[in-house]
Amino acid sequence: MRPFLLIGALTALYILWALTAYPTQIFVRGNSIVYLNPATNNTIVAVFYVIATYPFSTYDLRVHIDLEERSAGHSFHSTVCVIGGGIAGLILAMRLAKQGIRVHLLEAGGLAFEERSQALYRAQMSYDNHRGSNEGRARTFGGSSTRWGGQLLPFTPDIFSPPDGSSREGWPICAQDITPYYQEVEIILGVDSFPFSSDLLSTLRRNTLPASEDILVRFSKWAPFKKRNLAKTVGVEAMAHPGVTVFTHANAASLMAEPGNRNRIGSVRVRNYDRKDYLFTADHFVVCAGTVESSRLLLCSPDIPNAHDQIGRYFHDHVGFLAAQFLPPGRARAIQRLGPFYVDGTLHTCKFEASLRLRLREGLLATVGYILIDEPAESGASATRNLLRSIQRGEFKEGIGANLAPMLLGGPDVARLFLYSRFAGRRAVSKRATLRLTIDVEQAPDPQNRIRVSDCKEDALGMRTTILDWRINEPERSTAVRYSRILRKYLKYAEMDPSQWNETGLEDIAPAMSDTNHPMGGLRMGTDIRRSVVDRDLKVHCVDNLHVASCAVFPSGSSSNPTFTMMALTLRLADHLARQISDRH
Ligand SMILES: Cc1cc2nc3c(=O)[nH]c(=O)nc-3n(C[C@H](O)[C@H](O)[C@H](O)COP(=O)(O)OP(=O)(O)OC[C@H]3O[C@@H](n4cnc5c(N)ncnc54)[C@H](O)[C@@H]3O)c2cc1C
Repeated sequence: MRPFLLIGALTALYILWALTAYPTQIFVRGNSIVYLNPATNNTIVAVFYVIATYPFSTYDLRVHIDLEERSAGHSFHSTVCVIGGGIAGLILAMRLAKQGIRVHLLEAGGLAFEERSQALYRAQMSYDNHRGSNEGRARTFGGSSTRWGGQLLPFTPDIFSPPDGSSREGWPICAQDITPYYQEVEIILGVDSFPFSSDLLSTLRRNTLPASEDILVRFSKWAPFKKRNLAKTVGVEAMAHPGVTVFTHANAASLMAEPGNRNRIGSVRVRNYDRKDYLFTADHFVVCAGTVESSRLLLCSPDIPNAHDQIGRYFHDHVGFLAAQFLPPGRARAIQRLGPFYVDGTLHTCKFEASLRLRLREGLLATVGYILIDEPAESGASATRNLLRSIQRGEFKEGIGANLAPMLLGGPDVARLFLYSRFAGRRAVSKRATLRLTIDVEQAPDPQNRIRVSDCKEDALGMRTTILDWRINEPERSTAVRYSRILRKYLKYAEMDPSQWNETGLEDIAPAMSDTNHPMGGLRMGTDIRRSVVDRDLKVHCVDNLHVASCAVFPSGSSSNPTFTMMALTLRLADHLARQISDRH
């Protein structure tokens, strides 16, 4: 032990000197965290500290560079520069680093939510209000994973490769290209490996639902709260990994071509909140700034080719409407047969998708019906959910402050939630809860639905502001109305008729429909350079070293939540880049 004591004493002196000589932040929480502000000397301090104290305890070293604390004009070089520290950026950076590749990850926000960063996301609407663009994105480390629901459902194979004779456009990849990656995403998000298909019910020896050739019954999985915010899982791993350097307050403002070579990006100009500029050079660049912002960044980069005016076009979302409310006697049956249930800690919920056969016969877009359960706002169940969401956002104190009293007052609700999940494997649904049937529809491809940037307005950092030309069109409205009638027949046949249907017709359904926080498109994947922005490997057409990992590349939306597929695509991109890099060496 003596040598360690000596090293410990020397380290303590060194740290004391460094702390007084340089501003630094070192926090030790429990036995697992060292946070620091990594000017080189601080990194040395921390490394020394970790080595010296290793025999007594295990410490992670979490390093990030805050650009607010670097003088302007610095330049940084890496093999791959990843722009955006949300879901896509984090899993991409980690997978590359694990393959020995040096990565710089640029995150516009800080480690915690900041209003000055969020304000830069504000978008102006030209037509319908795309709520998710202003209220559903988070511009912070971890991105929208600090807010999302974590619901996962793979795309059905026909979305990628529609059958002959279908009017639908396919993707330039097939289901097999990404299926192997779905399993890895399940591991990252900590869900079980049971099937998504209705086989789940027979696997678990539960009562099956009536079979129908028109309705495809599948079950989505929900990532547990502790795994939803990727800043706290993959983000922590990335900050501790020697192959990744995370830069915060690093707003990518413009991608610039290599001097004399317009087919390659040489650098990205990055700005902090004091409007100081930095230059990041790399061999490869990947834009992971989320759907809207990825298009905006490319539109704000004059060196990116856009001869066919495709950047920002074909923006889409899932649009939803409340089709019915479950009242007795269908309500009790619906809870019993369709209510959410837990397997191995993973929550599963039932989805009624329009089968391929039905869509082809009726000319419908991909669409899905599912049950939404709303407990009263003042109940213990709602307070528990709100607290978990606050913890997901990293706002524990605020969450406790706002929800502790309602949780105590609603003690029986909280106890029921816990006991049902623990012993019955079910999510408890109280008598006061409202049960509604919701129908979501993908949007038909429309080049007029697009992300643009203003010609005259700039945000606080001098970047042109976003304008969204977005409309819910006739095909979406018609699919919603018609599928609601089809689902009504099925639920009646299954003896789970909700009873109170929303009788809104095609003429007046538009105001009842809204986006569902699933922005997609703008940088569409395709083989035809006149109708797309990236190719099947997510490389921007005509630029050799620029890729995009985001739902922005989705040519269509399907009836599944998008992020599971986006994550699988991102892992596939990481492997593709790693192969390219190793081939060059
Ligand atoms: C309330 C809510 C619930 C949701 N629920 C689900 C669900 O259950 N299932 C599902 O599949 N999807 C869901 N989603 C959608 C899901 O959150 C997104 O699809 C997903 O977060 C997209 O990941 P991303 O990495 O592409 O973008 P983001 O997670 O948004 O990350 C983008 C990152 O880029 C950073 N950034 C932006 N601009 C710049 C710049 N100029 N320079 C540097 N960095 C920049 C941002 O700060 C952010 O960290 C939900 C969304 C919301 C809002």
